[in-house]
Amino acid sequence: MQALLFMALQLLCTLASGLGKRKKLFILIFHRVLDGPDSLRPWEIDSETFAWQMALIAKYFNVMAFSEAIERMENHTLPSRAMCITFDDGYADNYTNALPILLQNKLSAIFFIASGYLDGGRMWNDSVIESLRVMPGSRLDLSKIGLDSYDISSEQKKADSAIAIIQNIKHLDPDVRTQHTDYIVSLAKKELPHDLMLSSQQLAKLHVSGMEIGGHTVSHPILATLSLDAVKQEVCDNKASLERLLSAQVRFFAYPNGKPGQDYLPEQVHVIKNCGYEAAVSTLPGVSTALDDPWQLARFTPWDKHPLKFMLRIAIEYFQLKRLY
Ligand SMILES: [Zn+2]
Repeated sequence: MQALLFMALQLLCTLASGLGKRKKLFILIFHRVLDGPDSLRPWEIDSETFAWQMALIAKYFNVMAFSEAIERMENHTLPSRAMCITFDDGYADNYTNALPILLQNKLSAIFFIASGYLDGGRMWNDSVIESLRVMPGSRLDLSKIGLDSYDISSEQKKADSAIAIIQNIKHLDPDVRTQHTDYIVSLAKKELPHDLMLSSQQLAKLHVSGMEIGGHTVSHPILATLSLDAVKQEVCDNKASLERLLSAQVRFFAYPNGKPGQDYLPEQVHVIKNCGYEAAVSTLPGVSTALDDPWQLARFTPWDKHPLKFMLRIAIEYFQLKRLY
Protein backbone atom coordinates (compact mmCIF):
# COMPACT_ATOMS: atom_id res chain seq x y z
CA MET A 1 0.00 0.00 0.00
CA GLN A 2 2.74 2.44 1.03
CA ALA A 3 4.73 1.63 -2.15
CA LEU A 4 1.66 2.47 -4.26
CA LEU A 5 1.22 5.78 -2.48
CA PHE A 6 4.87 6.65 -3.11
CA MET A 7 4.47 5.82 -6.80
CA ALA A 8 1.32 7.95 -6.99
CA LEU A 9 3.19 10.87 -5.40
CA GLN A 10 6.07 10.36 -7.83
CA LEU A 11 3.60 10.54 -10.73
CA LEU A 12 2.14 13.71 -9.23
CA CYS A 13 5.63 15.25 -9.06
CA THR A 14 6.26 14.25 -12.70
CA LEU A 15 3.01 15.90 -13.80
CA ALA A 16 3.86 19.03 -11.77
CA SER A 17 7.42 19.24 -13.14
CA GLY A 18 6.45 21.40 -16.12
CA LEU A 19 7.82 21.48 -19.66
CA GLY A 20 10.68 23.20 -21.52
CA LYS A 21 11.72 26.46 -19.91
CA ARG A 22 9.04 25.98 -17.25
CA LYS A 23 10.64 22.74 -16.06
CA LYS A 24 11.04 22.99 -12.30
CA LEU A 25 14.20 22.52 -10.27
CA PHE A 26 13.66 21.52 -6.64
CA ILE A 27 16.58 22.60 -4.45
CA LEU A 28 16.70 21.09 -0.98
CA ILE A 29 18.45 22.95 1.84
CA PHE A 30 20.10 21.30 4.83
CA HIS A 31 22.39 22.54 7.61
CA ARG A 32 23.32 19.81 10.05
CA VAL A 33 23.06 16.03 10.12
CA LEU A 34 23.36 15.22 13.84
CA ASP A 35 24.71 11.99 15.33
CA GLY A 36 21.31 11.52 17.01
CA PRO A 37 18.31 13.57 18.20
CA ASP A 38 19.31 16.70 20.16
CA SER A 39 16.69 18.31 22.41
CA LEU A 40 18.39 21.69 22.01
CA ARG A 41 18.21 21.46 18.21
CA PRO A 42 14.78 19.89 17.63
CA TRP A 43 14.57 21.38 14.11
CA GLU A 44 17.70 19.57 12.89
CA ILE A 45 17.74 16.06 11.45
CA ASP A 46 20.00 13.19 12.49
CA SER A 47 21.82 10.52 10.48
CA GLU A 48 18.98 8.03 10.71
CA THR A 49 16.45 10.50 9.28
CA PHE A 50 18.87 11.74 6.63
CA ALA A 51 19.52 8.12 5.54
CA TRP A 52 15.88 7.35 4.72
CA GLN A 53 15.35 10.81 3.20
CA MET A 54 18.26 10.28 0.80
CA ALA A 55 17.16 6.71 -0.02
CA LEU A 56 13.70 8.08 -0.95
CA ILE A 57 15.12 10.93 -2.98
CA ALA A 58 17.53 8.65 -4.84
CA LYS A 59 14.63 6.35 -5.73
CA TYR A 60 11.98 8.85 -6.75
CA PHE A 61 13.81 11.97 -8.01
CA ASN A 62 16.51 12.89 -10.51
CA VAL A 63 19.22 14.34 -8.31
CA MET A 64 22.08 16.04 -10.11
CA ALA A 65 25.14 18.12 -9.31
CA PHE A 66 24.24 21.78 -8.81
CA SER A 67 26.48 22.87 -11.72
CA GLU A 68 24.76 20.41 -14.06
CA ALA A 69 21.30 21.52 -12.90
CA ILE A 70 22.12 25.19 -13.57
CA GLU A 71 23.45 24.35 -17.02
CA ARG A 72 20.44 22.19 -17.89
CA MET A 73 18.01 24.78 -16.54
CA GLU A 74 19.60 27.38 -18.85
CA ASN A 75 19.45 24.94 -21.80
CA HIS A 76 15.85 23.92 -20.96
CA THR A 77 16.93 20.27 -20.71
CA LEU A 78 16.10 19.54 -17.07
CA PRO A 79 14.48 16.15 -16.56
CA SER A 80 11.19 15.79 -14.68
CA ARG A 81 11.57 15.69 -10.89
CA ALA A 82 14.96 17.44 -11.13
CA MET A 83 16.45 17.96 -7.69
CA CYS A 84 19.61 19.34 -6.04
CA ILE A 85 20.83 18.87 -2.49
CA THR A 86 22.49 21.83 -0.75
CA PHE A 87 24.09 22.32 2.67
CA ASP A 88 24.79 25.70 4.26
CA ASP A 89 27.49 26.89 6.69
CA GLY A 90 30.07 24.05 6.74
CA TYR A 91 29.35 21.84 9.74
CA ALA A 92 31.74 18.96 10.50
CA ASP A 93 28.83 16.51 10.55
CA ASN A 94 28.34 17.22 6.84
CA TYR A 95 31.57 15.28 6.39
CA THR A 96 31.26 12.70 9.19
CA ASN A 97 27.52 11.91 8.85
CA ALA A 98 26.10 13.24 5.55
CA LEU A 99 28.90 12.34 3.13
CA PRO A 100 28.82 8.53 3.70
CA ILE A 101 25.02 8.51 3.20
CA LEU A 102 25.25 10.64 0.04
CA LEU A 103 27.96 8.37 -1.40
CA GLN A 104 26.04 5.24 -0.47
CA ASN A 105 23.04 6.56 -2.44
CA LYS A 106 25.25 7.86 -5.30
CA LEU A 107 23.96 11.41 -4.73
CA SER A 108 25.75 14.66 -5.42
CA ALA A 109 25.42 17.73 -3.18
CA ILE A 110 26.84 21.23 -2.92
CA PHE A 111 28.16 22.62 0.37
CA PHE A 112 28.10 26.41 0.85
CA ILE A 113 30.90 27.25 3.28
CA ALA A 114 31.40 30.24 5.62
CA SER A 115 35.20 30.02 5.47
CA GLY A 116 35.92 32.07 8.62
CA TYR A 117 34.67 29.23 10.84
CA LEU A 118 36.76 26.40 9.37
CA ASP A 119 39.25 24.70 11.70
CA GLY A 120 37.76 25.21 15.16
CA GLY A 121 35.44 28.22 14.71
CA ARG A 122 31.93 28.46 16.08
CA MET A 123 29.03 30.46 14.64
CA TRP A 124 27.39 32.92 17.04
CA ASN A 125 24.04 31.10 17.01
CA ASP A 126 25.81 27.87 18.00
CA SER A 127 27.58 29.74 20.79
CA VAL A 128 24.14 30.76 22.12
CA ILE A 129 22.76 27.20 21.88
CA GLU A 130 25.85 25.56 23.40
CA SER A 131 25.96 28.16 26.20
CA LEU A 132 22.35 27.44 27.11
CA ARG A 133 23.04 23.69 27.04
CA VAL A 134 25.54 24.03 29.93
CA MET A 135 24.07 27.17 31.58
CA PRO A 136 23.64 26.76 35.36
CA GLY A 137 20.39 27.74 37.10
CA SER A 138 16.79 27.79 35.96
CA ARG A 139 16.58 31.37 34.64
CA LEU A 140 18.86 33.35 32.39
CA ASP A 141 18.62 37.08 33.03
CA LEU A 142 19.82 39.05 30.00
CA SER A 143 18.36 42.41 31.05
CA LYS A 144 21.92 43.80 31.24
CA ILE A 145 22.10 43.62 27.43
CA GLY A 146 18.53 44.78 26.87
CA LEU A 147 16.97 41.34 26.49
CA ASP A 148 14.45 39.43 28.64
CA SER A 149 14.84 36.94 31.42
CA TYR A 150 14.56 33.42 30.00
CA ASP A 151 13.29 30.15 31.46
CA ILE A 152 16.02 27.49 31.20
CA SER A 153 14.55 25.04 33.72
CA SER A 154 14.30 22.13 31.23
CA GLU A 155 15.81 21.02 27.92
CA GLN A 156 12.61 22.09 26.13
CA LYS A 157 12.68 25.53 27.80
CA LYS A 158 16.36 25.89 26.93
CA ALA A 159 15.59 25.12 23.26
CA ASP A 160 12.70 27.64 23.22
CA SER A 161 14.82 30.30 24.95
CA ALA A 162 17.77 29.73 22.58
CA ILE A 163 15.46 30.27 19.57
CA ALA A 164 14.00 33.44 21.16
CA ILE A 165 17.46 34.88 21.93
CA ILE A 166 18.76 34.05 18.44
CA GLN A 167 15.75 35.74 16.82
CA ASN A 168 16.23 38.81 19.03
CA ILE A 169 19.88 39.39 18.19
CA LYS A 170 20.11 37.99 14.64
CA HIS A 171 19.65 41.29 12.82
CA LEU A 172 21.71 43.50 15.16
CA ASP A 173 24.91 45.17 14.02
CA PRO A 174 27.50 42.32 13.82
CA ASP A 175 29.75 43.90 16.49
CA VAL A 176 26.86 44.36 18.93
CA ARG A 177 25.71 40.80 18.22
CA THR A 178 29.21 39.51 18.99
CA GLN A 179 29.25 41.47 22.28
CA HIS A 180 25.87 39.99 23.28
CA THR A 181 27.00 36.48 22.33
CA ASP A 182 30.26 36.87 24.29
CA TYR A 183 28.26 37.99 27.34
CA ILE A 184 25.99 34.90 27.13
CA VAL A 185 29.05 32.63 26.66
CA SER A 186 30.71 34.23 29.72
CA LEU A 187 27.64 33.37 31.86
CA ALA A 188 27.91 29.69 30.86
CA LYS A 189 31.31 29.50 32.60
CA LYS A 190 32.25 26.35 30.65
CA GLU A 191 34.41 25.51 27.65
CA LEU A 192 32.17 25.26 24.56
CA PRO A 193 32.84 22.82 21.67
CA HIS A 194 35.40 23.75 19.03
CA ASP A 195 34.70 20.89 16.64
CA LEU A 196 31.29 21.86 15.28
CA MET A 197 32.60 23.14 11.95
CA LEU A 198 34.58 21.42 9.20
CA SER A 199 38.36 21.35 9.26
CA SER A 200 40.15 22.39 6.06
CA GLN A 201 41.14 18.77 5.60
CA GLN A 202 37.54 17.54 5.88
CA LEU A 203 36.43 20.19 3.40
CA ALA A 204 39.11 19.10 0.92
CA LYS A 205 37.99 15.49 1.36
CA LEU A 206 34.35 16.45 0.69
CA HIS A 207 35.51 18.04 -2.55
CA VAL A 208 37.74 15.11 -3.56
CA SER A 209 34.78 12.77 -2.89
CA GLY A 210 32.97 14.46 -5.79
CA MET A 211 30.90 16.99 -3.83
CA GLU A 212 30.68 20.61 -5.02
CA ILE A 213 31.74 23.51 -2.79
CA GLY A 214 30.12 26.96 -2.89
CA GLY A 215 30.64 30.33 -1.17
CA HIS A 216 28.66 31.57 1.86
CA THR A 217 30.77 34.62 2.95
CA VAL A 218 33.66 34.64 5.45
CA SER A 219 31.80 35.34 8.71
CA HIS A 220 28.14 34.76 7.81
CA PRO A 221 26.92 38.34 8.36
CA ILE A 222 23.43 39.55 7.48
CA LEU A 223 24.55 41.25 4.26
CA ALA A 224 21.70 43.79 4.43
CA THR A 225 23.39 45.33 7.51
CA LEU A 226 26.70 45.91 5.67
CA SER A 227 28.05 48.57 3.30
CA LEU A 228 28.66 47.50 -0.31
CA ASP A 229 32.44 47.51 0.34
CA ALA A 230 32.04 45.23 3.35
CA VAL A 231 29.77 42.91 1.34
CA LYS A 232 32.40 42.75 -1.40
CA GLN A 233 35.10 41.85 1.10
CA GLU A 234 32.98 39.14 2.76
CA VAL A 235 31.96 37.60 -0.56
CA CYS A 236 35.18 37.88 -2.57
CA ASP A 237 37.56 36.94 0.30
CA ASN A 238 35.45 33.88 1.01
CA LYS A 239 35.58 32.82 -2.66
CA ALA A 240 39.34 33.39 -2.89
CA SER A 241 40.15 31.48 0.29
CA LEU A 242 38.00 28.48 -0.68
CA GLU A 243 39.56 28.43 -4.14
CA ARG A 244 43.05 28.54 -2.62
CA LEU A 245 42.21 25.69 -0.28
CA LEU A 246 40.62 23.47 -2.94
CA SER A 247 42.72 24.51 -5.97
CA ALA A 248 39.41 24.68 -7.85
CA GLN A 249 36.96 27.30 -8.99
CA VAL A 250 34.08 28.11 -6.62
CA ARG A 251 31.18 28.95 -8.93
CA PHE A 252 28.03 29.29 -6.82
CA PHE A 253 26.94 31.30 -3.78
CA ALA A 254 24.34 31.08 -1.00
CA TYR A 255 23.23 34.27 0.82
CA PRO A 256 23.58 33.97 4.63
CA ASN A 257 20.08 33.58 6.07
CA GLY A 258 18.93 34.22 2.54
CA LYS A 259 15.64 36.14 2.66
CA PRO A 260 15.53 38.78 -0.11
CA GLY A 261 14.92 42.31 1.15
CA GLN A 262 15.54 41.26 4.73
CA ASP A 263 18.89 39.43 4.76
CA TYR A 264 20.29 40.85 1.51
CA LEU A 265 19.35 43.77 -0.73
CA PRO A 266 18.84 43.99 -4.51
CA GLU A 267 21.96 46.16 -5.02
CA GLN A 268 24.06 43.55 -3.19
CA VAL A 269 23.22 40.91 -5.79
CA HIS A 270 25.49 42.77 -8.21
CA VAL A 271 28.41 42.35 -5.81
CA ILE A 272 27.96 38.56 -5.99
CA LYS A 273 27.98 38.72 -9.81
CA ASN A 274 31.05 40.96 -9.87
CA CYS A 275 32.99 38.56 -7.63
CA GLY A 276 32.80 36.03 -10.47
CA TYR A 277 29.97 33.77 -9.34
CA GLU A 278 27.65 32.14 -11.91
CA ALA A 279 24.43 31.74 -9.88
CA ALA A 280 23.19 32.06 -6.30
CA VAL A 281 20.58 30.56 -3.99
CA SER A 282 18.32 32.28 -1.47
CA THR A 283 16.15 30.74 1.24
CA LEU A 284 12.97 31.86 -0.42
CA PRO A 285 10.80 28.73 -0.46
CA GLY A 286 9.57 27.16 -3.68
CA VAL A 287 10.90 25.65 -6.88
CA SER A 288 12.75 27.45 -9.69
CA THR A 289 12.53 27.49 -13.48
CA ALA A 290 14.59 29.05 -16.28
CA LEU A 291 12.18 32.01 -16.06
CA ASP A 292 13.33 32.83 -12.52
CA ASP A 293 16.28 34.95 -11.47
CA PRO A 294 19.36 32.64 -11.40
CA TRP A 295 20.87 34.95 -8.74
CA GLN A 296 18.07 34.28 -6.25
CA LEU A 297 17.02 30.67 -6.74
CA ALA A 298 14.45 29.27 -4.31
CA ARG A 299 15.20 26.48 -1.83
CA PHE A 300 13.03 24.39 0.42
CA THR A 301 13.34 21.98 3.37
CA PRO A 302 10.62 19.36 3.77
CA TRP A 303 10.65 19.23 7.57
CA ASP A 304 8.55 16.13 8.13
CA LYS A 305 10.24 13.29 9.94
CA HIS A 306 7.94 10.63 8.47
CA PRO A 307 8.66 9.27 4.94
CA LEU A 308 5.14 9.60 3.51
CA LYS A 309 4.64 13.12 4.88
CA PHE A 310 8.12 14.07 3.66
CA MET A 311 7.27 12.91 0.13
CA LEU A 312 3.82 14.55 0.26
CA ARG A 313 5.42 17.86 1.34
CA ILE A 314 7.70 17.76 -1.73
CA ALA A 315 4.76 16.98 -4.03
CA ILE A 316 2.73 19.89 -2.59
CA GLU A 317 5.70 22.25 -3.03
CA TYR A 318 5.78 21.44 -6.75
CA PHE A 319 2.27 22.87 -7.05
CA GLN A 320 2.88 26.07 -5.10
CA LEU A 321 2.50 29.26 -7.06
CA LYS A 322 5.77 30.94 -7.90
CA ARG A 323 6.96 33.16 -5.02
CA LEU A 324 7.48 36.82 -5.61
CA TYR A 325 11.02 37.97 -6.30
ZN1 LIG B 1 24.10 29.97 6.61
